[in-house]
Amino acid sequence: MEQVPSILGDVTALALGACVGSFAVTVAYRLPRDISIAAPRSFCESCERPIPWWANIPIFSYLASRGRCVICGAPIRARHPAGELALALTALYLYVNFPLGGAVSRFIFVTALLIASLVDYDWRLIPNLITFPGVPVGFALAALFMPEVGWKSSLIGIAAGGGVLFVTGYVYQLIRSKEGVGLGDVFLLAMVGAFLGWQGVLFTLFFGALLGSFGGLAVGLFGTPTGPPELPPGMRESPAAAPASAMASAAGGADTAAAAAIDAEPPDSAATENKEHALLATAVPFGPFLSLAAGFYALFQPQLTGWYLSR
Ligand SMILES: [Zn+2]
Repeated sequence: MEQVPSILGDVTALALGACVGSFAVTVAYRLPRDISIAAPRSFCESCERPIPWWANIPIFSYLASRGRCVICGAPIRARHPAGELALALTALYLYVNFPLGGAVSRFIFVTALLIASLVDYDWRLIPNLITFPGVPVGFALAALFMPEVGWKSSLIGIAAGGGVLFVTGYVYQLIRSKEGVGLGDVFLLAMVGAFLGWQGVLFTLFFGALLGSFGGLAVGLFGTPTGPPELPPGMRESPAAAPASAMASAAGGADTAAAAAIDAEPPDSAATENKEHALLATAVPFGPFLSLAAGFYALFQPQLTGWYLSR
């Protein structure tokens, strides 16, 4: 495949990446709301009317409509063009730098990370619907198409990724009798191990925690960047509790209790408790930071391991 250095392949990778990016942002919106991914075609998140096909071309439509819905004029969230652009560039980079099988495998992984991150950012939950299948799929792809990882490292990675965080969370809970690490993060890291092997898990844990502590510091200094999750119209009257419990069945992540506790308690009675909680526990969604580190490793594994080995 690399023997055909035609612009056609590059453009195809860019276009496919952009389309998958558009799909990923849509999935991240629909999954926690229990909206089918297949059934209703793309609709505006404000007026909920279907978007005409000509206004649904990744990136270009956003630019042409200046980031507004062509029907109701409501602003379209920047994550739509950002997600499309990010996955378009990721697809091109992987296509150019990896054999096709490895490129597709890594692209699937990065797409799963993007969906998990968006859901975690909005809801402080990581959907098991992404991470559960991600483990066997990652193992198969690592064994078949990613010789830099291989089945052995993948298997150890699953155990290490799932195990390390699970034990950390358990110990933390024993000491502080609070949930420090959500189960969602445990399954996310098991998926990381499946795709990237145990070396990838170590990298992700170290740099994810580093990024996360910067993020936690920023939250501590400047306040929470994300308010409570955006609620679908029907749920706006009863904040936090309703969507959190509805989500528990869909996603099963353990951040729910912590997030619900923070959102539901009146600010005056639990101010100090919350302040402590905000810095130590899951007020900062950890998934996006882990995902950032894991995605970086997926893209630059050859350079990173080469650099490491040359020392
Ligand atoms: Zn609209």
